[in-house]
Amino acid sequence: MTAPDDGLRMMRVSASTRIAPRMQRLRLEGEALERFDTTANLHVRLHLPASPATAAVVTRYYTIRHIDTAAGWVDIDFVLHEAPGPGGDFARLAKVGDICGMSGPCGLGAKPAPFYLLAGDETALPAIARIAETLPVQARGKIILEIGGREDQIDFRHPAGIAVSWLYRGETAVEEQGLFTKNLAQALAEVESRRDSFVWIAGEYSAVMPLRTPLKRSHAKRSLCVPYWRAEGRFSQTSSVS
Ligand SMILES: Cc1cc2nc3c(=O)[nH]c(=O)nc-3n(C[C@H](O)[C@H](O)[C@H](O)COP(=O)(O)OP(=O)(O)OC[C@H]3O[C@@H](n4cnc5c(N)ncnc54)[C@H](O)[C@@H]3O)c2cc1C
Repeated sequence: MTAPDDGLRMMRVSASTRIAPRMQRLRLEGEALERFDTTANLHVRLHLPASPATAAVVTRYYTIRHIDTAAGWVDIDFVLHEAPGPGGDFARLAKVGDICGMSGPCGLGAKPAPFYLLAGDETALPAIARIAETLPVQARGKIILEIGGREDQIDFRHPAGIAVSWLYRGETAVEEQGLFTKNLAQALAEVESRRDSFVWIAGEYSAVMPLRTPLKRSHAKRSLCVPYWRAEGRFSQTSSVS
């Protein structure tokens, strides 16, 4: 009898490319990747060395940016953040032939809607780009992305009726800090009464969590609002993925 596929794969780094100053793309090769080829579940758990010098393994969530099941690879875009962690380190130091585990897929994608509001920071950029590229051509809406600077902007295809706003954290004057929250609050107020809208938000814990309850009230199942990381320390990702 064949054992059921629990999703866990051994993946091998076949290419590592710095696609922006703070974003490293790893191409990971593995076998039988068909179960990961779905926009209903965008994310995977990567099982990575806890540090370059140990055999201990930790788990981090990442997003499949591209997948080619026939060729047997996925592309994952890793933010290279300043506080070293196993995920960022694995990407920064990766060499062709390095291995990691990958399981899933997990997390939910966007539900069909005539109008979308998608927002997030650089950790959400791979997911937002993948969602935007697969929306129907007639889709309308707004995307708000907050990233470090212009040099971190990674453009992606999106329907003509979707307006994309890039906010550059590094260029924001002190008195304008919180521009993302302000822009998002305005966009959320605009969609509050739109029953046809779908809202998808991901980013740093303190930016995302205050939006959860109001969004549940206004959009219930027509929204996803997920913390992707937490400033000043790790948080359990096991409970953060819807
Ligand atoms: C469903 C889901 C999908 C995700 N997809 C992606 C993805 O495609 N690409 C991606 O890069 N990330 C993605 N993330 C976020 C990623 O899992 C976290 O950023 C994770 O904490 C990185 O792990 P690490 O080992 O590098 O750092 P950790 O060990 O988790 O943290 C070490 C230190 O770094 C800080 N830190 C962690 N992340 C960041 C950051 N982005 N910016 C600044 N400081 C940070 C922490 O506050 C901590 O102080 C996703 C998260 C979820 C839940």
